[in-house]
Amino acid sequence: MRIEEDIKLGFKDVLIRPKRSTLKSRSQVDLIRSFSFKHSSSFWSGIPIIAANMDTIGTFRMVQSLSTFNILTAVHKYYSFQEWKSFINSSSQDVLNHVIVSIGTSNADFLKIKKIFSLSSDLKFICIDVANGYSEHVVSFLKSVRFFFPDKIICTGNVVTGEMVEELILAGADIVKVGIGPGSVCTTRVKTGVGYPQLSAIIECADAAHGLGGQIISDGGCTVSGDIAKAFGGGADFVMLGGMLSGHNECEGEIIEEKSKKYMLFYGMSSISAMNRYTGHIARYRASEGKTVKIPFRGSIDATIRDILGGLRSSCTYVGAEKLKELTKRTTFIRVTEQENCIFNTFK
Ligand code: 5GP
Repeated sequence: MRIEEDIKLGFKDVLIRPKRSTLKSRSQVDLIRSFSFKHSSSFWSGIPIIAANMDTIGTFRMVQSLSTFNILTAVHKYYSFQEWKSFINSSSQDVLNHVIVSIGTSNADFLKIKKIFSLSSDLKFICIDVANGYSEHVVSFLKSVRFFFPDKIICTGNVVTGEMVEELILAGADIVKVGIGPGSVCTTRVKTGVGYPQLSAIIECADAAHGLGGQIISDGGCTVSGDIAKAFGGGADFVMLGGMLSGHNECEGEIIEEKSKKYMLFYGMSSISAMNRYTGHIARYRASEGKTVKIPFRGSIDATIRDILGGLRSSCTYVGAEKLKELTKRTTFIRVTEQENCIFNTFK
């Protein structure tokens, strides 16, 4: 047994120090980033925020809405081939440019993505969706996917340490998904005692990935747009959101009405709700590592996205970053013991 003494930080432990800025207005900030990749020769340009590949969030309707903002959606892995076919046939090229196709690591999953990708060459991204990216099985599956799709942009994870980021990039990943346990409906840290504070995971993993010409996605733990700014400030190339996008028209959660108020169910992909839905039972050898929550229904996602993007532009303005790409090098984090003043929150 060994103890690492240096403190690992989460979003709540820091704030971004303001810096002198020549920007006059938030409207001058450019949130678009353009990427080339380690293995794939494709390019992608857009706002590097991703709707999470959870079955209530990473939906075809989410793709339709978020693509209008130039934002990506990691479409969940439970749509059938037929559903993919009708979605692809009814979508124009620009919409497909904002789709990440998620898959599991079984032979059946591999066959399914081969069929999905044969439907359109406009699909660029594959996400190998696994909770634990430390498994050797993930590495060998990734190698096979890279061999079959030499030119697609492949992301996989989830990991939280530099050495595993390097292994995944060397095995064929362009982008590594970073985050174990920070998610809004995740109970992994409670159930297993395993995890890593998200901001430190981002800083350490971005360093490892960038050294090899790869990129990272910060996955999970953002609760407000300030957290998204901190994730980008820490070095994340992309930021994935679940909970912040939940409860909207574009989600596929069950709607419940209580005392004439509408709510939507949102649950973790390892929760009892998800396991019951997709396997019909909880395997005897495993425990749920996710929760189910009921959140107020919020209507269309547009206002939420505008609020997030406005917050992010404002963060950039405060540190003088004209482009989102500059945010990392203009970020100095200060360690703090306070965040929001909550005195009036109970009156909301
Ligand atoms: P959020 O943005 O809601 O904080 O985090 C979203 C991320 O939480 C997802 O992209 C995924 O990585 C993770 N996640 C989703 N469902 C579960 C779950 O049931 N258990 C765990 N451990 N993580 C989950």
